[in-house]
Amino acid sequence: MPELNTQPPDRELAEFRVKGEIPVPILITWLTFAAVPALCFFAYRANLRADLQTVLALIAFASLLAINSLVYYVSHNDTLLRRGFIVLITGLFSYLALFAIEDGAGVMWLFAYPPIVFYISDARVGIIACLGGWAGLALLFSPLGKAIFETPYSASFSLIMITALGFEMATCYVLDQSRRRSKLGLIKLANQFEYAAKHDALTGLANRREGHARLDAEYERYLRNNRAFSALLMDIDLFKTVNDNYGHQAGDQMIMLVANTLKAECRRVDTLARWGGEEFLVLLPETDHAVALKIANRVRESIASQSIEFEGQNIAATISVGVATIQGSESIDRLLQRADEALYQAKTQGRNQVCSGANHHTAA
Ligand code: GH3
Ligand code: MG
Ligand code: MG
Repeated sequence: MPELNTQPPDRELAEFRVKGEIPVPILITWLTFAAVPALCFFAYRANLRADLQTVLALIAFASLLAINSLVYYVSHNDTLLRRGFIVLITGLFSYLALFAIEDGAGVMWLFAYPPIVFYISDARVGIIACLGGWAGLALLFSPLGKAIFETPYSASFSLIMITALGFEMATCYVLDQSRRRSKLGLIKLANQFEYAAKHDALTGLANRREGHARLDAEYERYLRNNRAFSALLMDIDLFKTVNDNYGHQAGDQMIMLVANTLKAECRRVDTLARWGGEEFLVLLPETDHAVALKIANRVRESIASQSIEFEGQNIAATISVGVATIQGSESIDRLLQRADEALYQAKTQGRNQVCSGANHHTAA
């Protein structure tokens, strides 16, 4: 029994965004919009206390955050925006903790740090930033830190703050990992569905619907730049006798032989489709009639020279091929009709041969 081809080829999954997910640049813009007035408000309060250093620091952070977003809207550099934002909020939150802004309550802003960092950067950067922040805070709360920065944090406040922040960081990490895993799972599933919708399960070739889609795309290209393409319509000869004499499984194996031969003989740009039960369509982009005939004969000869082994017996088969090349303003249906007529001709002339689709000069 031939293996079923249901697996999509490997693709870079991380680059996909799931519908409904907030893009990082948008999130950073929103956060900046919220942060700038908040910083101005706290700068105003610092001004009331005549704390000039804090006024300048908060205004500087607000300006830098705004500049960071403005630069993005000019450069569209995601990485720069993200890195700039992380650096700025790290600096800002460190400042709030070190200088015990608002009687030390400013340090509470550290709770905003883990979810933002995990959302806007990859897990590795998130872990490094959080561990660094946590260690820095532990140091600040240590007797050494207290001596240097003369902070007002009490022992019980420090203890609760450091444990609660550690707990929040760990929770954010777990939630973020779960979010990433479900996203990846969703993307994989969508990929599999897409692949299954476009491919034939037995051979892994494009199915008829996908074949039509590729024909449409190639036709559009032909209309734009007038590069003719060709279609080969092939059918296994006397296939019914293979099924009748050896059974359906042998028939399936024969279909696989044809599919594998097509994969071996055609170019990567060609579309190989299973058009029906034992019928195949090959779309040859930018290929004129003479070359298409050559390729058709090469495939035909290759299949005729091979056989499948089924329950100790060698079974050989041949194919007949109809070849048509797009011309003038004829439609795809007309092209396929010509290929089909040529295939029929190949059958009536004795099979195992390639016939050329007649060049009727009919407009679409
Ligand atoms: P011809 O040379 O005129 O094409 O003769 P033929 O016997 O190949 O033509 P016909 O169209 O009468 O027979 C095709 C047979 O293919 C009929 C059907 O049972 C069989 N068939 C269609 N799809 C499959 C498939 O997926 N697997 C197998 N094993 N058989 C299939
Ligand atoms: Mg048939
Ligand atoms: Mg047949």
